[in-house]
Amino acid sequence: MTVRVRFAPSPTGMFHVGGARSALQNWIFAKQQGGVFVLRIEDTDAARNRPEWTEGILSALDWIGIARGSYEGPYFQSSYAGEHRAAAQRLYEGGRAYYCDCTREDVQARTGPQQRGYDGFCRDRGLEPGDGRALRFRTPDEGETVVVDLVRGEPTFENKLIEDFVIARGDGSPVFLLANVVDDMSMGITHVIRAEEHLPNTPKQQLLWDALGVKPPIWAHVPVVVNEKRQKLSKRRDKVALEAYRDEGYLADAMRNYLMLLGWAPSGDREIVPWSVIEEEFRLDEVNPSPAFFDEKKLRAFNGDYIRALPVADFVEACRPWLTGTETIAPPPWQPEEFDPAAFAAVAPLAQTRIAVLSEIVPNVDFLFLADPLIDEAAWAKAMKEGAADLLDAAIVAFEALESWDAESLKATLEAVGAERGLKLGKAQAPVRVAVTGRTVGLPLFESLEVLGRDRTLTRLRAARVRLV
Ligand code: GLU
Repeated sequence: MTVRVRFAPSPTGMFHVGGARSALQNWIFAKQQGGVFVLRIEDTDAARNRPEWTEGILSALDWIGIARGSYEGPYFQSSYAGEHRAAAQRLYEGGRAYYCDCTREDVQARTGPQQRGYDGFCRDRGLEPGDGRALRFRTPDEGETVVVDLVRGEPTFENKLIEDFVIARGDGSPVFLLANVVDDMSMGITHVIRAEEHLPNTPKQQLLWDALGVKPPIWAHVPVVVNEKRQKLSKRRDKVALEAYRDEGYLADAMRNYLMLLGWAPSGDREIVPWSVIEEEFRLDEVNPSPAFFDEKKLRAFNGDYIRALPVADFVEACRPWLTGTETIAPPPWQPEEFDPAAFAAVAPLAQTRIAVLSEIVPNVDFLFLADPLIDEAAWAKAMKEGAADLLDAAIVAFEALESWDAESLKATLEAVGAERGLKLGKAQAPVRVAVTGRTVGLPLFESLEVLGRDRTLTRLRAARVRLV
């Protein structure tokens, strides 16, 4: 039997990090089993049927390493509406489903507002199909439904506690539960690896598999992803869009490594491991069923490690989208013609050890490419205290006299200027840094001045001095 798994996102306009995690787990499982990964877009909700949203899913998958063309699909759930209806009809004709004309109010009037679920009122009324009549699945009165789940063992559900759930609405359209099962069936899916949120649907879905006469798949419900307050990650509250992380400058390799740690860990107390190790070692049955904490701080630190591990040339290349801007990344504050690749290459190794996400490259290097630095006024106020004017005057004179404009000479010079005033180097640097870069923090100062060059450095120091008059 060939293993066939599927990733079945509903288009929502963004790609949830939890979805990315499930996609990767499916992907790895298929690869390990010599199986097939199927992509199915669950687009039956017409309001969610936008082509650009599907495109967003494909490109997010691509970014995370599930390349277009290397899987089966995408299939679109909406194109199988006929099959969904036919299955509903089969269940009806086989006596496994019945029509029901109860409104929610009718049910509540009979059962009281406390009771949840349907009371089975229409079970034996023999209603014909008709406008406004929903089709309900007749769940067995007895027995249990045992779900075989690679992550959770064998969760067992008593059938009598499962209500007669709706499989097609009053207008005849099949609901998600049924469409999802019918598609999995016709696509030959052997293992359903998906988020824990769907576990409550699973006994119902398994009953549908049984009723339709096909052996159900093996399930794996991977843990829900939560924030630091243990709340399920929500797009209204949390940063959940994979695209947002991508555009902020998380590396795909860091991201997918981190995502795989949600509920699982590679051997040997390691967290940062090559993808090939994850592909080899990952086991669904080792996934911890408890909620998995998506720790953004940890991810950031992780990403910093990944950035530092890049060969410099790759780092330079990886920064490019932030240096130019793209469709989804804002352009930098300088004009394209102001950008100087040689100057960037000179400071790139310094920046590489200091940034945690690639977008941070821009505020670190903008002083090199802008005619005038962008002055952060709070930084200015902090650095340009008493004595700053005097220090700048002395620094200007000393720098003008420098024979060799290199980081070492610049440092020795400013150190001496500071010492004459009883200032440690750190204190002496502050006004110079703000005058030249506009900020109190940034790349190592003297290397920055070396790359910026004598004329531009002195021009900025003089301009700052004028402002202090
Ligand atoms: N379309 C469903 C969702 O996005 C997935 C259902 C499933 O994986 O079975 O939540």
